[in-house]
Amino acid sequence: MSADVGSAVISLAEELREILGEDAVLQGADTVQYHVDASEGRGLRAEPDLVVRPADTYAVAAVMRACYEHEVPLTPRGGGTGLVGGSLAFGGGVVLDLALLNEVFEVRPEAWRMTVGAGLRTDHVRRLGRESGLYFPPDPGAAEASQIGGNIATDAGGPHAFKYGTTGSWVLGLEVVVPPGKVISVGGRNRKDVAGYNLTDLFVGSEGTLGIITACTLRLIPYPESRVAVVAGYEDAARGCAALEEVLISGLVPAAVEYLDQGAVEASRAAYPGSLDPRTRFLLIAEFDGSEADVAASAPVLEEALSPAVQLDARASVSEQDDLWRWRDSVTGAVAALLGGKLSVDVSVPAERFAEALSTSRDFAEQAGLRLCGWGHAGDANLHSTFVFDPSEEGALDAAERCADRLLARVVEMGGSIAAEHGIGWAKRGRLGLQLDDGSLEINRGLKQQLDPRGLLNPGKKE
Ligand SMILES: Cc1cc2nc3c(=O)[nH]c(=O)nc-3n(C[C@H](O)[C@H](O)[C@H](O)COP(=O)(O)OP(=O)(O)OC[C@H]3O[C@@H](n4cnc5c(N)ncnc54)[C@H](O)[C@@H]3O)c2cc1C
Repeated sequence: MSADVGSAVISLAEELREILGEDAVLQGADTVQYHVDASEGRGLRAEPDLVVRPADTYAVAAVMRACYEHEVPLTPRGGGTGLVGGSLAFGGGVVLDLALLNEVFEVRPEAWRMTVGAGLRTDHVRRLGRESGLYFPPDPGAAEASQIGGNIATDAGGPHAFKYGTTGSWVLGLEVVVPPGKVISVGGRNRKDVAGYNLTDLFVGSEGTLGIITACTLRLIPYPESRVAVVAGYEDAARGCAALEEVLISGLVPAAVEYLDQGAVEASRAAYPGSLDPRTRFLLIAEFDGSEADVAASAPVLEEALSPAVQLDARASVSEQDDLWRWRDSVTGAVAALLGGKLSVDVSVPAERFAEALSTSRDFAEQAGLRLCGWGHAGDANLHSTFVFDPSEEGALDAAERCADRLLARVVEMGGSIAAEHGIGWAKRGRLGLQLDDGSLEINRGLKQQLDPRGLLNPGKKE
């Protein structure tokens, strides 16, 4: 911290204590939990000068105004489950913890809609819908810790994004605090609205670099009456990818199609709820939902498309399906536990190049002498190719980073995206130009300049 920034932080801290109260401003040892997020396994850490915990939108606006006046950077933080270091304050400054903005403003079952604070946890949002017979489909993992504001800021996906789209598809309107501390509303409660440019979508996926989302109105749909999940095991990825193609041309629209490669299967085999055939080295999980009649008619079609497999395990009951998805959610943790370090590369490719992206990830890992665990959302051709390493081994993290860079470059050559659903954050900083052309990059930078002219909002991210 330079002397200038140091004295700015001291007077800012005093001002923020006056605005928010003593307990809402944390410093020193009290900020330790904010030094890391879920990207810790790839070695990312950053120490903020202050952490503030505002309780409402107006307090958020006051914090932003104070930061802007003192020229101190401000980093919004939801649940801290992001995998690219987006909520970490590299270079110091203030971390804004949004957990207290967790109010439920209204749930309108008859209008298929709810309005809630940005700090409400994802599992709470989904439960609120369910209690009214409605469905909020976006289901990124870590739902018990992530917040709806964080999901909107990253446009989080998850397994059911295949049929239902990512979080942004479910956002009708937002309340946002934009620099230097102005509260605006974009979108609203209407299902149709083309007045003005689509500013709602501008904030979706903006990773806290354009504004701080403080509340949102979400679209819901009736909860599907029934569902069936089929787990299919294959001896290798080639057979699994052939089955995936059969599913995609079967005429069905599955709710989710997930994959686990050999590394991910091995890492999580012991915890599988049931028994996995020992020959299984590649796994697909396909789920179909709808009316009871539709599910009954579609289950055999899905099973046939997934055949031949060394194992087909159809799960019709809710408890069996819950066990399965809980296990699927635990894959990230199981992989992290292997050697202690993991660098996960979240990318997507055009659907027809999914098998090639899998084999490319495998080749790059092999050439670098690293272990690969891959899993993710096969229906969306969204891979989480994860290079696993022992952080105490010299050069291992560098080797994983080189592998990740090779993969990002290759994915772009394939017409894919370097950030499918986790964002660019800090981990992929400087890589936007790999994918975006010069004109598009210029517009991106112009938007940032327009909204945050001093570059104080989550600096260094999404660049
Ligand atoms: C086990 C596990 C499984 C996961 N599975 C998935 C998955 O299936 N699909 C998926 O997409 N992601 C997944 N993720 C990643 C992560 O959970 C999502 O990106 C999630 O949406 C982040 O929400 P959060 O509240 O934790 O945000 P944080 O990690 O706190 O922040 C993420 C970014 O959003 C910004 N931000 C947070 N809140 C706000 C706000 N209110 N206003 C403006 N900016 C804000 C932050 O500055 C940061 O840039 C997974 C993570 C883990 C650990």
